[in-house]
Amino acid sequence: MRCSGCEAPAVVDQPYRSAHLCEHHFRASVEERVRREMHRQIPRFGHGTIAVALSGGKDSSVALALTHRYFGRRPTVRVIALSVDEGIATYRPATLAAAERLTRAIGVEHRVVRASEEIRTTVDTTAAGLPGTVPCSFCGVWRRRLLNRAALDCGADALVVGFNLDDLAQTVLMNLVHGDLDRLVRMAPHRVRQPGLVPRIAPLAAVPEREVYLYARLAGLPFDHGECPHADRAARNLFREIVWQLEESQPGTRQALLRTHARLVDRWLRTEGEGAPGRCRVCGAPSAHPVCRACEFLAAAGTHPLAPEAS
Ligand code: SF4
Ligand SMILES: [Zn+2]
Ligand SMILES: [Zn+2]
Repeated sequence: MRCSGCEAPAVVDQPYRSAHLCEHHFRASVEERVRREMHRQIPRFGHGTIAVALSGGKDSSVALALTHRYFGRRPTVRVIALSVDEGIATYRPATLAAAERLTRAIGVEHRVVRASEEIRTTVDTTAAGLPGTVPCSFCGVWRRRLLNRAALDCGADALVVGFNLDDLAQTVLMNLVHGDLDRLVRMAPHRVRQPGLVPRIAPLAAVPEREVYLYARLAGLPFDHGECPHADRAARNLFREIVWQLEESQPGTRQALLRTHARLVDRWLRTEGEGAPGRCRVCGAPSAHPVCRACEFLAAAGTHPLAPEAS
């Protein structure tokens, strides 16, 4: 198969746009899609701090490398990588080592936030103590909280997350199926600024997961291939399978889900306005509920360091 843009052999097919691309045109197309998303989500950003959530996996490694490529030459923009060590012994140390290799290779400051220090528990410990609960439910909310706090601490104006097109399409479908309009409107990339929350942007939003993987390989980025031992219990797995099957039979489904999401948010903002969630009465963080889920899970785990007001 030849490239749609030149005569070189193709390294990837893109059924959703009936194209095949060689390595040169493929890498250029990923970089261009990321550049456009960056510009769309934080237009004319030329001064300040961009934090990048870096797990050490392929998605966040590509997000960091391309954020650095995009902003690296601007002396007025500081890029900093933030990692969370949730305490998953058979998985996280290897990903953190990969994150360290990448940040050293490209010369980006790297900070690691540890759940064992910040919330005095780990995902492994809590998973053992709450065997009926899917670990991703507390792991995800704690990680978001620790990342937001770390981003606030370093004065970040935006927090880059490595969500790719597949991730975002799955999240849209999950929120639609659950009828959770509030989450649908407030999911990343953030269109609504929420007090106390560093806006999360998703520059890989237009790049499918397998293209992110291929880009990471072709670019020679160090990333970890391991899988979390708790991943097979994630609720998202069903939606991953459904979106994948839909995309196989109807190429372009993922982009259609994201367009649907954008239109729903437009309409919501026109009729409902931006509004603002309340604050968690325990920790004071933005929350749609009187007590945020991070605090709920901390209470269930028997640790409550985010709760000065309640003690
Ligand atoms: S798979 Fe679940 S438990 Fe593992 S790191 Fe991801 S969110 Fe956390
Ligand atoms: Zn080509
Ligand atoms: Zn709280």
